[in-house]
Amino acid sequence: MPDFDRKHALISIADVDYAWLRDILVALHGGAPSNWAILCVCFKDDPVSLPPLDHYRKLFTSEGAGTMNMVEFFRDMSHGQIDVGASKVFGWYRLDRPRSDYVGNVYPQPDGKLNRNGLLDAGKAAATAAKVDLSKFDGVVVSGYGGTDLCGWLGGMAALCDANSLQPSLLGQEMGHGYGLDHARLNGSTADYQDPWDVMSTAAWPDRQAPNTDYVSIGPGLNAACMRSRGWLDETRVWSGPYAGFDSVITLRPLHHRQLSGYLAAEVGPYLVELRVRDRWDAAIPRAAVLVHRFSDNHSYLMPASSGSEDLGEGEQFESGSADHVFRPHVLVKVLDIDEGGRTARVRIGWRPQQFPPNYEIVGHLIGAVAIDGGGGIIVNGKFIPVPPRGPEYQLLSALSNALSSDITASVSAGTSYKRDLLRQVVKSALQMQAELAEVTHSPPRRDTPQRRNREH
Ligand SMILES: [Zn+2]
Repeated sequence: MPDFDRKHALISIADVDYAWLRDILVALHGGAPSNWAILCVCFKDDPVSLPPLDHYRKLFTSEGAGTMNMVEFFRDMSHGQIDVGASKVFGWYRLDRPRSDYVGNVYPQPDGKLNRNGLLDAGKAAATAAKVDLSKFDGVVVSGYGGTDLCGWLGGMAALCDANSLQPSLLGQEMGHGYGLDHARLNGSTADYQDPWDVMSTAAWPDRQAPNTDYVSIGPGLNAACMRSRGWLDETRVWSGPYAGFDSVITLRPLHHRQLSGYLAAEVGPYLVELRVRDRWDAAIPRAAVLVHRFSDNHSYLMPASSGSEDLGEGEQFESGSADHVFRPHVLVKVLDIDEGGRTARVRIGWRPQQFPPNYEIVGHLIGAVAIDGGGGIIVNGKFIPVPPRGPEYQLLSALSNALSSDITASVSAGTSYKRDLLRQVVKSALQMQAELAEVTHSPPRRDTPQRRNREH
């Protein structure tokens, strides 16, 4: 019996206890704490009377639970993994600078002026001077008095906002930048703000921001590809099939409705497929719809339907590649039906990865060459049949493919003559094959089947 390893046993118990405790904490609090310090800042010459901070606390912290505030936004967009509920609001801090010193998005910072970095630093310095320990917070939002500015630092956990942008529609994007999220795009373009269904395009699509009595506007939500890029997508709720390929009908639930059972997204080749319905964050989208995205260079790209529509309604489909090109990747996403009240969509999803016929060259121009070395093949009823690199079979197939693919219309008689030559080659190759078969198909002793007799003559 091995010696009892007390140290190891203790570590194991601690690990188990920690996981158990973490699960309870996540269940109770909805996710890992990610606390922001909200610093309300005004300039020297701003009014003496400043707005009360109650509204800020309601918007940014758990004090506003159940009001579609930033806490709920990040909880829903991270499938419960990010909890900003313990964020704290501080201020007002009056900077010792007149408002005219602020120049906004100007780099480098002119002497005697404040640009965006300068205002962020000034706000942090003012809070630190007032004994706020900013090291206890994961991020900082500097919220200016009146109209000041709105921006976020990509991956920097910092943002500026003001009285005109105390809206989850806008703050979701700016604070989202802090976590590393960049602007959402449309396939075929590298322009930003081109996905009207995504919070990482808000401001450009105000009609997709749902009116809200507490916070002016909320939504739309964050797409599945962006969620996955931050590790926020609950991968246990994502349908995925075998990489070798599939053709399935699945039922999707709305992406941000994780309280409902079922799949919240589906992975089809390089794409993520999701359902959105008109409620909560997505209350202002034009219709219940399925969306398809890919993700590259830290941007999500919305993939339009074959019809040209950027979202997929009932009967619409997204297709990439062609079902006819058997060696190319093929993706199909077809919306069979959407039950908006029932919060479901049935979607047919098909995936076929790229296939490489190993060590074979496709014979003949009619199929299209895949030059590897030597050999070849022919596709019959979708099945690849290899052909040796030399010999009569190869000659026969080459001659046949030439004959079938020749299309000479300039001169009927010349074309006819050319085709006759090609067919003569086909017949010659076929006769050669027949002669070789006759040589090699001697019947073994006592295996003189009728089939073999026929072949010999
Ligand atoms: Zn932005």
